[in-house]
Amino acid sequence: MSDAMPQTVLKPLAMPATLTQIGKQLAGYDPQALTADAVLAFLAQMVTPLAGTETVSLFQALDRVLAADVISPLSVPPHDNSAMDGYAFNGDSLPAAQSLQVVGTALAGKAWQGQVQAGQCVKIMTGAIMPAGLDTVVAQELAQVNGDRVEIAARLLQRGDNRRLCGEDLMAGQPALPAGTRLGPAACGLLASLGLAQVSVRPRLKVAYFSTGDEILSLGEAPREGAVFDSNRYTVHGLLTRMGCEVLDLGVVRDDPALLEAAFGQAAALADVIITSGGVSVGEADFTKAMMKKLGDVAFWRIAMRPGRPMAVGRIPQGGRSSEGDRSAVLFGLPGNPVAVMVTFLAFVRPTLQRMMGMTHAPLPLLKARSQAVLRKKPGRTEYQRGIVSHNAQGELQVIITGNQGSGVLSSMVQANGLIVLHHDQATTQVGEWVDVMMFDGHL
Ligand code: AMP
Ligand code: MG
Repeated sequence: MSDAMPQTVLKPLAMPATLTQIGKQLAGYDPQALTADAVLAFLAQMVTPLAGTETVSLFQALDRVLAADVISPLSVPPHDNSAMDGYAFNGDSLPAAQSLQVVGTALAGKAWQGQVQAGQCVKIMTGAIMPAGLDTVVAQELAQVNGDRVEIAARLLQRGDNRRLCGEDLMAGQPALPAGTRLGPAACGLLASLGLAQVSVRPRLKVAYFSTGDEILSLGEAPREGAVFDSNRYTVHGLLTRMGCEVLDLGVVRDDPALLEAAFGQAAALADVIITSGGVSVGEADFTKAMMKKLGDVAFWRIAMRPGRPMAVGRIPQGGRSSEGDRSAVLFGLPGNPVAVMVTFLAFVRPTLQRMMGMTHAPLPLLKARSQAVLRKKPGRTEYQRGIVSHNAQGELQVIITGNQGSGVLSSMVQANGLIVLHHDQATTQVGEWVDVMMFDGHL
């Protein structure tokens, strides 16, 4: 299983379809025994991209999602120009040209206007416009100056060398970036090269998060027996921030129906997505599941995966009541275990949020690496093991697991640079066998 959205195109449903309706569209949908792929197929049907656009300045555009195709208003570069400091000449004279007379200098930002005859050249700086009729540049290291003449190593040169063509980066009137592009540093620079000071982007996705569980301590609270500090709040905050979401932090919510109802109500009113952790496993004695069920259209899943088996998904209407025309927030009730939270986020939440952000799906890269250990597994569920990918002596990629794979053990997550994905039907892996690794470097 990769975190790729499924390729199967299902009949689009008029939104919003109920979870039951979506389930009916999926062959063999069984909330109690879902494959990881079925989860992705379901989620792809459950959400649509957020409507609306915003215009932001380029400094604010980093990590935003482009709302419309950008067509180049101009060509980049705007003229043929030199890629080197050297001498520009007419490539017609190659390969014979050995000695050329220097008749002028072309500087960057200052075109040289003169005419050049056969046997002549122009001294030229990087970025300067190629003078009329000249198409080739010899780097100054390959030219020997001798008074007003230069001797060039003509046999090392070809017509067009060291010349950058007008529009070779971007051509006026041609698409420069498609809608759905996540604007990284390179894309922001590219938009600037087109002279665009502002850009139309999708609204930022607002995601509200809270942790549940009576044993969960907020930082700063006095430790008490049986209680653990809330780590999920920080991993989820980080994961969401890296995705470019606006995070609304609602802290820890105690296992109390009134507090839970208030938290869900506030989250649904403020956010497009609600993420919680804890309280969704089978036999939970708390009120989280009951409250989700009461307030929204929510399915409780058991997924054939490890870590991460239980998960709740659905929609919680604004104000906590289902009525016609009410805006709903998408709900992800993640399991409580810290590593299960991160794995279910990467596998399911991330691609779903990308879809809501209107972003072109960008799965985490899946590499093949040789397993350094026997990885025991029975077919019938997808397993994710924390691993470190490196090179072996033969220069191939190898992966070693990071020790204790318990679903609460964050230290082995910290050491890892990827998750080994042992697919649903895969059995035990032997030493030296190739396995898929979902690389999360830079995302975690
Ligand atoms: P649950 O899914 O509620 O049964 O929780 C599973 C395990 O995860 C339990 O050991 C919880 O104590 C732990 N857990 C739940 N929420 C958090 C959290 N926010 N931070 C750290 N551990 C948690
Ligand atoms: Mg619990």
